[in-house]
Amino acid sequence: MNDNKKLVEELADKIKTGDVQPWKAESVLLEEYNVSAPDHFQIAALSRRKCIEELTGHKFNYLELPEKPYLMQWRCPKDNSIWQLEARDTDTVCTHCGSVLEPHRSESDRFLPLVNNYIGGKEEYYSSAGQIKVFGDVDKTFTNLLAYGPGFGSIGISVGCFRVNKLGGAEVKVGKWAGAARNLGYIFESEEEREKAVTVAKEQLPVLRKEMEEKFLAEFSGEIYEVEFVRRQHHGQFFIYICFYTRFEHARGHGVTSAAVGFARGRLDAEFGANNVAFIQSLIAMGFDGDLKPSPRNRRGRYVSAQVKVPIPAYEKMSKTSIDKLMSYMEIDRQGVMQEQGGFVYSGMGGEIIPALYRGTKVNPRPYNVSCTENVYVEIRGEEVIFGVELPNLEVGATSNREGPICPTAREVLKFMGIGTSKEFAAAAAAITLAGEFNFTLLHLRGEMYVSK
Ligand SMILES: [Zn+2]
Repeated sequence: MNDNKKLVEELADKIKTGDVQPWKAESVLLEEYNVSAPDHFQIAALSRRKCIEELTGHKFNYLELPEKPYLMQWRCPKDNSIWQLEARDTDTVCTHCGSVLEPHRSESDRFLPLVNNYIGGKEEYYSSAGQIKVFGDVDKTFTNLLAYGPGFGSIGISVGCFRVNKLGGAEVKVGKWAGAARNLGYIFESEEEREKAVTVAKEQLPVLRKEMEEKFLAEFSGEIYEVEFVRRQHHGQFFIYICFYTRFEHARGHGVTSAAVGFARGRLDAEFGANNVAFIQSLIAMGFDGDLKPSPRNRRGRYVSAQVKVPIPAYEKMSKTSIDKLMSYMEIDRQGVMQEQGGFVYSGMGGEIIPALYRGTKVNPRPYNVSCTENVYVEIRGEEVIFGVELPNLEVGATSNREGPICPTAREVLKFMGIGTSKEFAAAAAAITLAGEFNFTLLHLRGEMYVSK
């Protein structure tokens, strides 16, 4: 074990100085240090952890490194299906047919990494994905610990971060507020009755808004910034949507907004009753407010963008092609999304990268599909090309509180990353997404993406 300790120190140093790329640690141990499989997986992970601890000044207390951090390959003797199971998994029975699985491949090469750049975690496998420097609305360098999942993703992000850092870092713009929305629906038998209701509701609003803010939103310093009235109908029924939009500087605000609107419904029901306004039904009609429905109209969450500027000749050198090819590459994707899929927001790699951050940090919301909507943009300004991503609806509560408790491992990961506020989370999310998209675009342009031989 002493030998291993020395080995970890030596390798951690080499990773820190750049002599060994972090994702090469496993192969360096096998080829240059004559460590035998599967011991190299743990030593490599320990080395990366040590390097991260030294870079950040924090110590890992909760993000566990299991004793056998690797996959083992098995084969079903009956149907020949291949299984890759975590080494601690003792359930070695084929779920297709119930046969007992047999070892697949030889004792030395049946092992696989849990995930590239693995640094710890059970079930959620954490990868080290380099560091990203941001400036603008947030000035910071984030140390990226992502729960990406199997595959090469974390390497693409690491390389992208390295490239963006070399270009001076990502300039970020982060919205001042995060929005939340909840909608009230009323159904009437006639348009006249509906108009009476609108009049009564609008009279009540000033007092009602104040009450909602004081009773429900004050805890998170929230405010109602807009109330929208929209009329619709279906056959003989007449609808009114009364949608309440709230905003918060440091909170997600979803839960308290819902509670406040539930309260508003009770109050309006009573006012309609007192003013002889007849309604068929009142309800929290969530279809209108965009709750967890990715859409260009969604007003939840916080806007954040990250971009990098590159002199055109430098970009052409990097991409090994002309700037025109970049513009065409963007256009073919833009049309693919706008015309074929019918929306202007699109999830590119962001749909994978952003969940990796959410999974790793376990912040709220846990269903992060709305936050994954993303635009990639490219602009030519003078002699420079600007490559950017914007996340129009990044919704997050980064503090462990009534909005959503965060487990100790995830709080530790947030600390390692350098994320203390929702704004910093947003800046990190956009910058990491930018890094991934930037690198993937380069790979596509060079013809190096999904190359099969
Ligand atoms: Zn089987």
